[in-house]
This record gives sequence, C-alpha cells and structure tokens, in this order.
Amino acid sequence: MKVFKFGGASVQNIDRIHLVADILKSYPNEKILVVISAMGKTTNALEKVTEAFFNNHKDEALLLFEAVKQQHLTTAKYLLVTHYNAALEQLANFFTEVEWLLHDKPVRDYDYYYDQIVCAGELLSTAIMSAYLNEAGISNEWIDVRDIVRTDNNFRDANIDWAFTQQKIDTDILPLFEDTDIVITQGFIGATDENESTTLGREGSDYTAAVFANMLNAESQTIWKDVKGVMNADPKTFPDAQFIGALNYTEVIEMAYYGAQVIHPKTIKPLQNKGIPLHVKCFLDKTLPGTVIHNSAVKHLPPIIVVKPAQALIHLHSRDFSFVGEKPVADLYELLASIKIKPNLMQTGAVSIQVCLDDRTDKIEKLALAASEIFEVQVEKGLTLLTIRHYNEAILHKMIGSHVIALRQQTPETVQVLMHPHS
Ligand code: ASP
Ligand code: MG
Repeated sequence: MKVFKFGGASVQNIDRIHLVADILKSYPNEKILVVISAMGKTTNALEKVTEAFFNNHKDEALLLFEAVKQQHLTTAKYLLVTHYNAALEQLANFFTEVEWLLHDKPVRDYDYYYDQIVCAGELLSTAIMSAYLNEAGISNEWIDVRDIVRTDNNFRDANIDWAFTQQKIDTDILPLFEDTDIVITQGFIGATDENESTTLGREGSDYTAAVFANMLNAESQTIWKDVKGVMNADPKTFPDAQFIGALNYTEVIEMAYYGAQVIHPKTIKPLQNKGIPLHVKCFLDKTLPGTVIHNSAVKHLPPIIVVKPAQALIHLHSRDFSFVGEKPVADLYELLASIKIKPNLMQTGAVSIQVCLDDRTDKIEKLALAASEIFEVQVEKGLTLLTIRHYNEAILHKMIGSHVIALRQQTPETVQVLMHPHS
C-alpha cells in the first residue's frame, strides 16, 4: 500500500489533471490511497466567501461562491463525458450545502463557519478527479473523509481522534481495497462526532496523508509537487537553491520549525513513528528521483537557509532596573502560552528580555499590553529572521550582507540572525 498526496497546484488546470492521471497509470496493480487538495487557489477563494458571509454581506458571499462554482463546473465540463451527469449531481450537493448556510445569518463563531464553507474545496476537487479518473480507465472509489477522520471541535485547527479514525480506516477503508486499487479522498478536512465539518490548519493535506499512511501501515508516502524535491532554500527567492536528494525526519522537523515551507510540520511524526519513508516528487516530470525523507542519518547536507519576514521584536525592561529574575521570566512564558504565540528567538539579559515573534498584530498587541504590567515594553516591527542550518562563515557573511543585526544566536548546528530591513 502506498499513499499519494496531490496538492492544489497539481490539479489547478486540465493539463495538470492529465499529468495526475499519467502518474497513477504508471503504478499498475498497486494499492494506492490518494489524498487530493482543493484545486489551485480555491481555499483562498472560499476564505473570502467566509469573510463576506461573516460580515453580513450575504450577496457578496453568494457572488464569490458563484465564481467558485463556475470554475468547478467548467473544469468538470472539460474533463467529463460519460461521468458528467453523475459528477454534476455530486457537485450540486456540495454547492447546496454551502449555499444553504450562506442564506443564514451568522450566529456562531467565525472559525465554525470557516470550516463549514472551506471544506467544500477538497470535496469538489476530489469528486471531479474521481469521476475523471474512472472515465480515463483508472478505476477508483471516492470517499468523504469526514466519515473517516474524526476530530474534536477546535475549528480551523482540529485535533484528530486517533482511536476512532483508526477503527474507521480498518472497517471502512481497508475492505475497499479488496475491490479496487485506488481510493480517492480529501486532505485537510474532518468532522466532529456531531457531523460538523472541521479543518486541520492550512496546508493540512500533507498531514492527512501521513495519518492515512500511519494507520494503513503504508510502505511509503509520496507528496507530488511542482518542484524537483526539497531544496536548501526557497527557489523563488534564491535562484541558485540546491536540490537535496535525501534528508532525515529530524532535519525536516527542524526546517519546518524554523519556518521552511517544505512540508506541513505535523506530517513527519506519524511517518517517523512507523518508519514510513516520505518521498517528495515532481508531478511535472515523474521520472525525476525526488527527495526521500527517512530515518537514516544523512551526512554532508548543504547549508539550509530559511528566511522569515514580518518579525516583531519586543524589548522588555524591568521597571526599576532590578535584575530580571525567574519570576518575571516565568510570568512571560505563561503569557506567551495563554496568547498561544511561540517565540522564535529569545534573549535574556540582566535587566531586560528580548523576544522575537511572528508579527501577528492582534497577538502582539495583546502581549505588549499584558506584559506592560510587569515590564517597560517597546515593540519593533518589520524585521527578518534568517536561520541557517549547517552554516559556514562564508554563507553567513553573504546572507547578512549590509543588514543591521538586531539579535544573533548560534549553536554548532544552527545560526539565527534577526535583521533590520535596511543597512
Ligand atoms: N487546500 C488546503 C490549503 O490550501 C489544504 C492543503 O492544500 O493542504 O491550505
Ligand atoms: Mg496546498
């Protein structure tokens, strides 16, 4: 058994959808569970629908949703002939689910509505893909993952009920593979025990695929992307980024922690626990080897560069210039936990503490306000956090350039430099 995950970019247009079919055809007689994301930028579009609805702009919400509908209907029309009517019926059901809600007035909280609306993206895309693949001779079963993946009701960041989900996979998914080689389902979404839809956090499909891989005891998971594999830096900002052929789980967890947008950070653990290798391969050219992420130690990695813009630096000074003791430090950590914000870098001094965080304005304001009961508080914004793993002096020097450094920390493995935008 293999698990494949196709992201939004791999199903964003007809040509790419054809490539997905080619890839699946090249694995004959393999049992594959396929997780597919929403098409292209559908999730962003559905977020806009949710915002309009929540702000009581019903007509705008319906109009925005109409655009999402038309896009999917057009795609279905291009792809399908014999399976068109059946698919249309399925799509219409999902459309109605959302429209029915949009005609209501919002009475619950934002995150609840977000999940009820945004989940449509993956349902629509997988319904179209399943019909198309069946029509193209790649016979498959479509599954509504909300019947399988049970979560709590922490909307927009729901937590999976592992025991329930495992049982569902054993009783409802495994038997399907007696009659079919391919099962198609959605990533990123789930449902509560009250059948309310939930989502697992943006980019959560990688994680769903990993949960399936774990619970199906898959031999491997493959994430199909529009890049050759994992690179040592973001190729959009670093044209000479290097390809990395092999990494181990720990390195990827570290990279994700520092902000590399390679793989959803939650993805690794379910795979690591069962030693399931993760392949990152290119759907544009399936013959390329891609990157493998596994348990074995990997030596001689190039410097891995992660740049995180939009950082805020909070300076906290003890009010009376007494030493910052353990009590204020403990209070500060408690504050961070209660606001649910993670420090990216922290430095303590005699009478001051500096904390670097992602600039989430609402959270930073809350933190600054609460901290001002204990400290003098100053907030600096617009900084960039550079992290280099396996660094050397030359690369560090080149990356810092003429930027003014606000804070720097290093271990033998990793250096982090918080920089002002200008020299
Ligand atoms: N469609 C969702 C998103 O764009 C989930 C995913 O693609 O992983 O965040
Ligand atoms: Mg995606």
